[in-house]
Amino acid sequence: MRRMHNAEQNTRPVFSLVIPVWNEEAVLPVLYDRLVEVMGNTGESWEVIFVNDGSRDRTLPILLELNNRDPRVKALNFSRNFGHQVAITAGFDYAEGDAVIVMDADMQDPPEVVLRLIEKWREGYDVVYAVRTKRAGESWFKLWTASVFYRTIRSIADIEIPLDAGDFRLMDRRVVLAMRQLREKNRFMRGLSSWVGYKQIAVEYERAARFAGETKYPLRKMLKLAVNAITSFSHVPLQLATYTGFILAGISLVGIIVTIIMRLSGSSAFLGQATTLVSVLFLGGIQLIFLGIIGEYLGRIYDEVKNRPLYIVADEYGFAGAAQAGARRTERLGVTVRPHSQPDLDVDKHLAGGAMHE
Ligand code: UDP
Ligand code: MG
Repeated sequence: MRRMHNAEQNTRPVFSLVIPVWNEEAVLPVLYDRLVEVMGNTGESWEVIFVNDGSRDRTLPILLELNNRDPRVKALNFSRNFGHQVAITAGFDYAEGDAVIVMDADMQDPPEVVLRLIEKWREGYDVVYAVRTKRAGESWFKLWTASVFYRTIRSIADIEIPLDAGDFRLMDRRVVLAMRQLREKNRFMRGLSSWVGYKQIAVEYERAARFAGETKYPLRKMLKLAVNAITSFSHVPLQLATYTGFILAGISLVGIIVTIIMRLSGSSAFLGQATTLVSVLFLGGIQLIFLGIIGEYLGRIYDEVKNRPLYIVADEYGFAGAAQAGARRTERLGVTVRPHSQPDLDVDKHLAGGAMHE
């Protein structure tokens, strides 16, 4: 049985939920009600940290309203859209719970499943990740590309990344503390949470359809995530150039020998422009592909060298002693922050501010 530190000290909550939100006005009120109901069943204290990832709808005002009504609701307001994976990272940086649970806002990760994650944590597991057995309401194209992706990454990654597990998972505080040290720029959080190790276990669930609103992951973003995942956890794409080089060099060596023999025996096969053109184009194509692959890795090195902060928090709402603790914490993380000790409830000002950037 796991010892819960926070319950004894009664300062920090036992559970922290981390929920990145980007234009999720349609789901928030219902999500909040479901969370209150589900977390009430745990019998422990909890907080929920919404990370507002540069929403342009009423997401922030709704979060402020929830925070005003219920101090367990906290919100980080990013200065712009930094992306889903970075929003999760920020949630980890601020979460205070003994266990931290990451989930999507759209209730595709049903809040009820959180209780099963908690059950495993109480049994002593450090990372409990939720594996999708079925996914409702998603196109065959998304299902197929996701399936190909998870299998590719599994076969070439240096570490074991579970099949069909998204970001929906629970992590013990010590895992979260370990994760906080990983500040790489192009992040694949599920990979990082495998990388840190510890005692991990899967819980199976059926993924629901999105409750309201539209997916925030178009093909372009899915591809970016996939490339980040592969380049973060594998050098295989770079090695492919070497293998291909050896194979092509071997084939051309045979070709040279065959050509010499045919020439000596008076044959005129393999002559002509078409043969030359095709082989030049073929090799040119292959070289460009590998140049591109090297470029992907190079771009990532460049991102690391620039060493910019991962995100910028414009406002913090509901964090106890935000002015001091937040400033200290963010100083350590190298993040720029303008902390608000008082929740700023001037909703219209925020909306106007958001609209200005459009
Ligand atoms: N999200 C975010 N920033 C982004 C994209 C998405 O914070 O740039 C959030 C989004 O609000 C949701 C979660 O990430 O809570 C997952 O997004 P979505 O449900 O659209 O992805 P899907 O389930 O369609 O893959
Ligand atoms: Mg979703």
